Amino acid sequence: MNIRRIGMVGAGAMGTGIAHVAAMSGYEVVLRDIDMAYVERSIKNMDKFMARSVEKGKMSEEQRQAALARIKGTVVLEDLAQVDFVIEAAIEDLDLKKEIFQALDKLCRPEIILATNTSSMSITSIASATGRPDKVCGMHFFNPAQLMRLVEVIRGLQTSDATIATARALAESFGKKSIEVKKDSPGFVVNRIMTPQFIEACRLLQEGVASVEDIDTAVKLGLNYPMGPFELMDYTGIDISYFVMEYLAGEFHDGHWAPPQILKQMVRAGRLGKKTGAGFYSDK
Ligand code: NAD
Repeated sequence: MNIRRIGMVGAGAMGTGIAHVAAMSGYEVVLRDIDMAYVERSIKNMDKFMARSVEKGKMSEEQRQAALARIKGTVVLEDLAQVDFVIEAAIEDLDLKKEIFQALDKLCRPEIILATNTSSMSITSIASATGRPDKVCGMHFFNPAQLMRLVEVIRGLQTSDATIATARALAESFGKKSIEVKKDSPGFVVNRIMTPQFIEACRLLQEGVASVEDIDTAVKLGLNYPMGPFELMDYTGIDISYFVMEYLAGEFHDGHWAPPQILKQMVRAGRLGKKTGAGFYSDK
């Protein structure tokens, strides 16, 4: 694995976390979003996070400065032409992801691996937008990527063994534990297990069986989970859970996966959780 410079597409919650981890692990990062204000906000958030790590004695001031110096922000996709590996974390929209991968395929050297952080979408579909489907895979990080240890490395239909091995080695070099998802199956492993839990939590709420707080308490104390489903949906973004459910319902042709009414209403009202300051736990 001869990777020195990583291209990061998308500087939202996940792009920020992944770019942070990559820079902390010694990689140069070219971080691209569509608006310089988003890129600047992302780098500011990384800086704040690193400052807290310095305060807590988890890293030195020199390490913080060195990590920040390794990150270059841009709105120009062509600035990724010289990177050695790309991770895409733009919004969860298949057409947009395909557009991005098509552009990256034209831009990046033919041997470069293009990975997507999609939460659920088909790696095979995204890879089909490129002329290098053997070099496209999923690298699914979890939120916040700075702290969460798992990366699901996902095989599309044509992904090569070498691509999977390189992506797993890269994840491990970030200090993460990787698992291989051997088939391009909707939701991969974690979301396949977690999404039905979110759906049932919403149904319990809709049916008036228990309150938001009590459902979360039940899951935390009864199942020993660190967060309840509503806390977690607020944290990760209610729109993301909604899109994942819609996608899984379509892929499995099974209405059981469809977003419950209450979640639809939250999204229609723009109550997206932490992102908007309003969600299951806040009336703002
Ligand atoms: P986000 O909305 O916080 O950030 C997405 C960013 O992508 C935005 O800053 C947006 O401006 C940018 N973007 C849009 N079009 C772009 C383009 N053409 N080029 C570059 N940037 C572009 O979303 P997020 O929560 O960071 O999620 C990003 C991806 O990661 C999605 O595919 C999502 O499903 C996945 N994911 C999210 C989570 C989570 O908990 N939030 C966890 C794992 C995976």
